[in-house]
Amino acid sequence: MVLFQRDLRLADNPALAAASASGLPVVPAYIWSPEEEHPEPGGASRWWLHHSLSSLCEGLRRAGSPLVLRRGPLAEAVTTLCRETGTVTVHLSAPADPFGAANVRALTSALLSLGIEVRTHPAPLLHEPDTLLTRSGTPFRVFSPFWRALLASAPPSAPLPPPDALRPPAARPLSFALEELGILPAHPWHVKLDRWWSPGEQGARRLLSRLGSGVLTRYSTGRDLPAEDGTSRLSPHLRFGEASPRQVWAAALEAVARTDEAVPFLRQLAWREFAHHLLWHSPRMLESPLNPAFEAFPWGEDQTALEAWKAGRTGYPIVDAGLRQLWETGWMHNRVRMLVGSFLVKDLLLPWQEGARWFWDTLVDACPASNSLGWQWVAGCGPDAAPFFRIFNPVVQGERFDPRGEYVRRWVPELRGLPDSLVHHPWDAPHPPKAYPAPIIDHAFARQRALGALRTCSSKRSQFGPVVSRGSSRYNGSERAG
Ligand code: FAD
Repeated sequence: MVLFQRDLRLADNPALAAASASGLPVVPAYIWSPEEEHPEPGGASRWWLHHSLSSLCEGLRRAGSPLVLRRGPLAEAVTTLCRETGTVTVHLSAPADPFGAANVRALTSALLSLGIEVRTHPAPLLHEPDTLLTRSGTPFRVFSPFWRALLASAPPSAPLPPPDALRPPAARPLSFALEELGILPAHPWHVKLDRWWSPGEQGARRLLSRLGSGVLTRYSTGRDLPAEDGTSRLSPHLRFGEASPRQVWAAALEAVARTDEAVPFLRQLAWREFAHHLLWHSPRMLESPLNPAFEAFPWGEDQTALEAWKAGRTGYPIVDAGLRQLWETGWMHNRVRMLVGSFLVKDLLLPWQEGARWFWDTLVDACPASNSLGWQWVAGCGPDAAPFFRIFNPVVQGERFDPRGEYVRRWVPELRGLPDSLVHHPWDAPHPPKAYPAPIIDHAFARQRALGALRTCSSKRSQFGPVVSRGSSRYNGSERAG
């Protein structure tokens, strides 16, 4: 049996390749058990998963052994299916996060007690999350040395081809129809996501095949400009394992051989590795600041401001454009993720966990590791994070990264009539568009308030350790505040 989890593909899938090479019948299985995931999948992830499984069903049917869909609990469902099919070995990819690992440990002991062998294959990462360590044998807390260690380690092996054909079991096991699992969210919000994405291995392969001749020829210059199609958009495909990191790394290396523009892309893949490394060693980072001094931070609780932020109605164009892009497409440009995050945490003084929860529900690439690292980085409470006192000015940042206002006009139609010179501060127009809200907070006031809050928290430093760190690794492009 092959148990699919976050590796929903046929190519470069070591678990599937090993099961196929065994010569025994292959029973591919997926168990839907959202209550056992931590956190439970959000709405956008459920939409993606449904379509990704649909694509996997089709791929496996063509390969000769259709996917069996069952409901959890995981250990119960897998042991039952093993009994029904006379399975002697279960192949699976190692989980990349500590919560999945706990589920797999419980599953493994249940299977071993029945005399069923469990063979675990590499996790959906370039390196297992616990293999890279500092010279003193401790986990990394800073990105740059982690990156150097990753470059110095054995290079990822070449991706595997998909199996030619799978030998099916003599009798087809009972399976739910995909629709019967009820994975799609109840709220019909997801219907519009069809316009933007092609979940599944084929969609991932299309993006991968264009990577070297497309975005990577201009990645270093284009990736920071949200109006451009300057990044790969591979994140949801990586999240669901429709593309493996080895495949993406190999495609990127080919591009690097042709142009330096592609070099920073490898580094971004390493941030994904770093996020998993951190979460593996500090599972509490999902909910708690990694710098414990921030436990004492005096966060506000203005629910009206939070709702305005979620709806993209803060009155700051670049912030609203990002949040509306997220609501419309289930994705947001990385540069803008940093800006909307900074606005929530520093201008509105709302806890980063609120932002992380919203992203978790609405992002198609929602990933526990990268999401919590991103939010802790923005809030200044993660390891190697942007210091809290660097506060992005949304007008200056908008003018810098969207100088002609194209991104803002695309997502905030109320501002389409404004000239470039006013599009990032419409309140200065002689007749500001009536349909667009005035700023919900004055940035200069908010900045001073945030610094004041930081000082109260810093005064507790003797108890908790320093709140203000000196600098941070480049997270994605330049992080100068302004
Ligand atoms: P590209 O620029 O093409 O990068 C290639 C790949 O590298 C990405 O697909 C992704 O897997 C990885 N990557 C790039 N940047 C980062 C990064 N900063 N951290 C970790 N991995 C990175 N990424 C997620 O995949 N899931 C999340 O839930 C998530 N939440 C975030 C929350 C915040 C507040 C912030 C600031 C960032 C978050 N990111 C998250 C990281 C980043 O924004 C996305 O990975 C990136 O925008 C995806 O677009 P892309 O595939 O076009 O990226």
